[in-house]
Amino acid sequence: MHASKYHINTLKEAPAEAEVKSHQLMTRAGMIRKAAGGIYTYMPLGLKVIRKIEGIVREEMNRAGAIELLMPVVQPAELWVESGRWEQYGAELMRIKDRHQRDFVLQPTSEEVITDIARNEIHSWRQLPLNFYHIQTKFRDERRPRFGLMRGREFTMKDAYSFDRDEASAQASYDAMFEAYMRIFTRLGLEFRAVAADTGSIGGTRSHEFQVVADTGEDLIVYNPNSQYAANIELAVAPCLLAQRGPATETLSKTATPDAPKCEIVAQQLGKPLTDTVKSIVLATETDGKPAQTRIWLLLLRGDHDLNEIKTGKLAGFENGYRFATEDEILDTFGCVPGYLGPIKPLKPVTVIADPTVANMSDFICGANDEGFHYTGVNWGRDLPEPQVADLRNVVAGDPDPQGGQLAIQRGIEVGHVFFLGDKYSKAMGATFLENDGKPAMLQMGCYGIGISRIAAAAIEQNHDDRGIVWPRAIAPFEVVICPMGLHKSETVRNAAETLYQELCAQGVDVILDDRDIRPGIMFADWELVGVPVRVTIGDRGLKENLIEIQTRRQETAAKIPVTEALAHTL
Ligand code: ATP
Ligand code: MG
Ligand code: MG
Ligand code: MG
Repeated sequence: MHASKYHINTLKEAPAEAEVKSHQLMTRAGMIRKAAGGIYTYMPLGLKVIRKIEGIVREEMNRAGAIELLMPVVQPAELWVESGRWEQYGAELMRIKDRHQRDFVLQPTSEEVITDIARNEIHSWRQLPLNFYHIQTKFRDERRPRFGLMRGREFTMKDAYSFDRDEASAQASYDAMFEAYMRIFTRLGLEFRAVAADTGSIGGTRSHEFQVVADTGEDLIVYNPNSQYAANIELAVAPCLLAQRGPATETLSKTATPDAPKCEIVAQQLGKPLTDTVKSIVLATETDGKPAQTRIWLLLLRGDHDLNEIKTGKLAGFENGYRFATEDEILDTFGCVPGYLGPIKPLKPVTVIADPTVANMSDFICGANDEGFHYTGVNWGRDLPEPQVADLRNVVAGDPDPQGGQLAIQRGIEVGHVFFLGDKYSKAMGATFLENDGKPAMLQMGCYGIGISRIAAAAIEQNHDDRGIVWPRAIAPFEVVICPMGLHKSETVRNAAETLYQELCAQGVDVILDDRDIRPGIMFADWELVGVPVRVTIGDRGLKENLIEIQTRRQETAAKIPVTEALAHTL
């Protein structure tokens, strides 16, 4: 590629709305352009990054035995009615009508369509196991699209769906995907962590998230530096809450939890000084009767009140005693939305009220109720029969003893998610196959997502400096840029640059030769902003001594290299 024939349009300023580095830098580098809130054009340089990420993901999915197909973005509502998600999904699901007033959705994910495919295509145990995947545009009408590609409304996801005869075989499929994900994120050149996770709206019983470690991440990861234990915050906190289940009492009481270390860490992280108006924190978990569906939300109470006032519902503006904080309030206070997983439904909550005046969250005052917020006292987890609590503990405990040492907490960006679904969708949609005894059986499913476009943003959050992006080489828009000094005046420079360019192309290196007639300072600044990992500078002065200059993006100064060694140094 020659820069004069390509499209490069860098900007000095980022748009005012761009809050995070990846959004600022991708816009300034000309990689994305906004069409509407959360909807972007991938410009040529940005698309190159996306395609490279897709390439690695595709290679590893194929290597793991998954088979590529392509499902539609626009999907008929009937399938979503069948699965129950037409009702359940809420406002994030973009619903549209065609000219005949028939309902459709823009797919946020594709369990329904793939289960429909499976029930029609898979007849016999002999066809199993199968794993289908696609890399396709998703649409989620996110409540607060922000941060550029990090949380778009339209975005690119790889989603895979495995089908197995039984749970043991489904577990093997899950493990194969887990391993593929480990390889993918390693190859992408990112620092990441796999953490045990809850299963959100998808349901099921086993799940891991892959989190790119970055201070700007929206998620919190709790891990034990001395063991394998790592979980997202929702899951890490859940057992603290469940541990407090006890006989119903009439009074709210302070209870030290057996899982106190976990709680303390949460408090340290979240327990920033509260503002004047925000006086209390409430952690709530919606159980849906299923521990795997447990979600935790952070709630803030505004106003100068005491717990008694909340309890008795005396506070003006607090429905039934209290209300959920708006996302903005949470953001104002904590700079993030910890554990925010979806639309807040103030139904069937199990509630823990932490008094903010105590630094230690193990000093929980806990209470719960059955029917919303008629608040009668402690009634822990009436919805949760004992065995389910045990199940949840198993899910949490990748390492059975997370309480052991001091836990650490860090921020992450969720770039991948694997779920074991069991027969959730196959049952709802009647996806069966014939077992070898001739009897029909339910397909056991798993689903596996990777946020392709989010990875581009996450890589930048993790790798940037004052001058711009520092791409891991595997996903850089170009691996090498050749910057000839005075190419339009010097034939020697032009020839040397072209020769190296051809050699690199022949070696399969993704190289761009900057033949634009611009000042060196501007040229360098452009490529530092764009984040190309290796820059080769060729000028008359150096060539006289048979030298060129090579500088990697992280280095402060260039190294002089004999022309004959240029190729070896850039590979
Ligand atoms: P989040 O918690 O960030 O909202 P999610 O849990 O809703 O993500 P999944 O349903 O697990 O997302 O989807 C699989 C992957 O798709 C996620 O791990 C993430 O990398 C990516 N993804 C989800 N939502 C978005 C979005 N709005 N923009 C870009 N990528 C996204
Ligand atoms: Mg999530
Ligand atoms: Mg989401
Ligand atoms: Mg997820």
